[in-house]
Amino acid sequence: MPTTSNQRIERSRRAILDALNQSFPATRQELSRRTGLAPSTVAGIVRDLLANEMVQEHEAADHAGRGRPSSRLSPRRLPGYLVGIDFGHRHVSVALASTAQEIVAEGRVTLDVDASASNALDRAAVLVIDLLDRARVPAGSVRRTVAGIPGPINQATGKIQSATILAGWAGIRPRQELVARLGGEVVIANDAELAALAEHTHGAGRNVSDLVYVKASHGIGAGLILAGRRYAGAYGASGEIGHTLVQEGGTQCRCGQRGCLESVVSIAEVWRQLIAAGLPPSERPDDLFLDALVHNPVVARIVTDAGRQLGRVLSDLCNALDPAMIIIGGELATAGEPLLEGVRESLRRFAQPAISDRVQIRSSTLGPRAALIGALTLAATTAEAAPAR
Ligand SMILES: [Zn+2]
Repeated sequence: MPTTSNQRIERSRRAILDALNQSFPATRQELSRRTGLAPSTVAGIVRDLLANEMVQEHEAADHAGRGRPSSRLSPRRLPGYLVGIDFGHRHVSVALASTAQEIVAEGRVTLDVDASASNALDRAAVLVIDLLDRARVPAGSVRRTVAGIPGPINQATGKIQSATILAGWAGIRPRQELVARLGGEVVIANDAELAALAEHTHGAGRNVSDLVYVKASHGIGAGLILAGRRYAGAYGASGEIGHTLVQEGGTQCRCGQRGCLESVVSIAEVWRQLIAAGLPPSERPDDLFLDALVHNPVVARIVTDAGRQLGRVLSDLCNALDPAMIIIGGELATAGEPLLEGVRESLRRFAQPAISDRVQIRSSTLGPRAALIGALTLAATTAEAAPAR
């Protein structure tokens, strides 16, 4: 389908706003350099953004009288606040932030999110109301709430659409449920997709237009940024790599199949293997982070093997998508280099050399908070696009 001139302008407008949100104030020349857009295109779009009060302009203070001062631009800060919610399989985290995404307060509870959707939604709502109380922010000043869910969401119906991946949530419409509990504007997205957006905007994948983010935690899911945009798939179920078969007749997975990637390399399975290998209990911290343990060669070998299994599935994904970068996040990624080495080994073996020679494999720079930060990023961009109330 040919790109219409409207789509081209919208893409350029988005690129300018993204560049400005990432670093400001900035001159028109700087925006042109950062986005690769022609100075005349930048000037035209900035004129529209100023007319619509989406950016503001200030004269440079350090003008020493040589030539015309070059004025600088900043995003116009919308009044109000944003709420981000991250439902993991075993926790709920919430954050309250300004519209410029500066976090004001955060909260977290550990609970079995999969077991009961209504309980998890209730707990999330209580956490949000508590944050608003503590920060003395009236509920009416929340411009947008974005919640990440660890499963596929049907974009057309808003329902959690898998009876196998997130069984306790099947058929639930989380947007309506959260609106009933919190009011206001609510947007729901897949958690790995939000984490991909966060890494693309603020983390390891800044300025990388084609990337795959892998959330390697209790579940394994991928979020895609393709041609600079989030890609959810036709029905919102892209990136469900956790249920790819890797071991014929292997361990029973919660989806009903045997030998899924998720049943072989989830953080819980890696911990089970560490304990079976006789890891002394004194070395086991309360959380599931691995960074303090990988100096132990047994731990490093188990983690590298998990990386190889993950890399086997990522090789097929790379052959199909040719991403510039793979970012691995979630608790498993806290193992760092030994995990990445296993992933790289499989890519060298199973992906096309033209792809494996170039694709960069990185750990998440935002860590296990990536999905929560992504929820705030999506809240900021969708609130910005919406007309002021
Ligand atoms: Zn499965």
